[in-house]
Amino acid sequence: MAERVIITMACSVCKNRNYYFDRGKKQEGKLVLNKFCKNCGGRTEHRETK
Ligand SMILES: [Zn+2]
Repeated sequence: MAERVIITMACSVCKNRNYYFDRGKKQEGKLVLNKFCKNCGGRTEHRETK
């Protein structure tokens, strides 16, 4: 059975967890994306968190 990996992306400014990704395979390195944060009202850096 394939291992399911859920990635949580949290805003680096307010620490709000805004995005969840379901990834079938583990990837090396931390994911950093610029995403819209409702809490901050703008685009901020989102980092992978546990
Ligand atoms: Zn934020």
